[in-house]
Amino acid sequence: MSKTIRFGDAEVSTQHYIDGARVASDETFELFSPVDQRRLGAVCLGGPDTAAAAVVAAARAFPAWSRLGAEGRLPFLKRFAEEIGKRADLLCEVESNDAGVLLSRMRHGIVPRAMLNLTFFAEAALTLQDKVIETAQATHHVRHDPAGVCVIITPWNAPLMLSTWKAGPALASGNTVVLKPPEWAPLSCSLLADAADAAGLPPGVFNVVQGVGAITGAALVADPRVARISFTGSAPTARIIAQAAAANLTPCSLELGGKSPFIVLEDADLDAAAATGALMYRNAGQVCLAGTRFLVHQKVRDVFVEKMRRVVERLVVGDPRDEATEVGPIIHPRQIERITGFVERAKAAGATVLWGGEPDALGGLYYQPTMLTDVAADAEIVQQEVFGPVLVLQTFVDDAEAIALANDVDYGLGGVCYGEADHAQAIALQVKTGFIWINSFGIRDLAAPFGGCKTSGVGREGGAWSFEFFSDIKDVIVPKQAFKPSFSHR
Ligand code: ADP
Repeated sequence: MSKTIRFGDAEVSTQHYIDGARVASDETFELFSPVDQRRLGAVCLGGPDTAAAAVVAAARAFPAWSRLGAEGRLPFLKRFAEEIGKRADLLCEVESNDAGVLLSRMRHGIVPRAMLNLTFFAEAALTLQDKVIETAQATHHVRHDPAGVCVIITPWNAPLMLSTWKAGPALASGNTVVLKPPEWAPLSCSLLADAADAAGLPPGVFNVVQGVGAITGAALVADPRVARISFTGSAPTARIIAQAAAANLTPCSLELGGKSPFIVLEDADLDAAAATGALMYRNAGQVCLAGTRFLVHQKVRDVFVEKMRRVVERLVVGDPRDEATEVGPIIHPRQIERITGFVERAKAAGATVLWGGEPDALGGLYYQPTMLTDVAADAEIVQQEVFGPVLVLQTFVDDAEAIALANDVDYGLGGVCYGEADHAQAIALQVKTGFIWINSFGIRDLAAPFGGCKTSGVGREGGAWSFEFFSDIKDVIVPKQAFKPSFSHR
């Protein structure tokens, strides 16, 4: 097989990156572009031996890397970020071709964020000081010790962003990493390996094993030498991973799907709400944190729908490599089938299509921005995550009903609430969710916690929460008086 896939003048390796070197597998999987369904090439599929080799390399590299301390690791991670920056054009091209992410979003949002994911956590790790607890008896020095080998498993909707969002804090706090990229969009992670290599990260500190979930991912999460598993993906896969991890009691951080409410109160600025509402079609709706369940006050429903319709009508669906495009393709034929299935079943159950509701006239893997209404509260389209450009709208008559509907799903990731600021905040406090935006959407900060409740996940990522997860907390207890051993008290 060819060892690379060509993008213009550049070649992207399709091999693994283990112990500071490119490694091939005989077995491969096929990669297609969601843009036009053309074959991009074959990518190495790591079997259990390859997965084990990566874990062994990461374990071998761990003692020296962890001993470097945050200050010693900082220059490596800064160089890693710089090397990502040097590859910005290629990363944009690669991820818009293999994941279908808008080129403009890659350039202005994701590549700078990937760099920041490394530098932010590398600098934040410098401030990770022992917490000292003084009591009458002793001084407790509470430390963050690096945990060991961390397996990172990421999904196809934002591979570069999510891989660096996890690798940044893991590496900065002294762990070594084995990254398993998503098989539908694995190439930007291969470029991450190039960047790590060019940055001079010691061999084994950052490894990439390409492959499919059921083989490569499964081997990694079952490995007893792994200290942490950080996963973003679907809830069914998370259950399989958590079961495998249970055998070794490996701690898992699980960031899963959502069916987050987008609440429009009677006192909302409807123009602003409608403009923000259209953002739920970003990345063709393949975004876990999108507010996909519109809950709109009965009295403003018709006006809101017409305002949002006018915004959505202007959205440009098309090739993600065109600057003008706002809604790109769906990742894979299997996902188009899934989306179509959801919409057709909803229609058959009596849903009204407010707009969209069909594959786009462009053909291929493009689907129209869609809004459905007249749905039962327990309908599949209300309860299940579609992960496509399909939204659903329900109405409520008072705050109590808005809150009840908002909480009436198994998910609890995010939310949006438009309304008079105090009113919206009062509602937000009663929605069971990991985060909720008031009169806004998508404002994120690397220092803030991210993650969900209920089926949306276990644990939080970001700032101190990432460091907690990737560390073993250790208390070193120094008594204040000479210790007198005694059986009579504890
Ligand atoms: P999606 O993101 O399409 O909803 P998944 O949650 O299945 O899909 O995939 C997210 C990531 O999890 C991918 O990198 C995939 O390869 C990986 N994965 C899938 N199944 C397993 C498994 N059994 N063990 C470990 N990783 C898996």
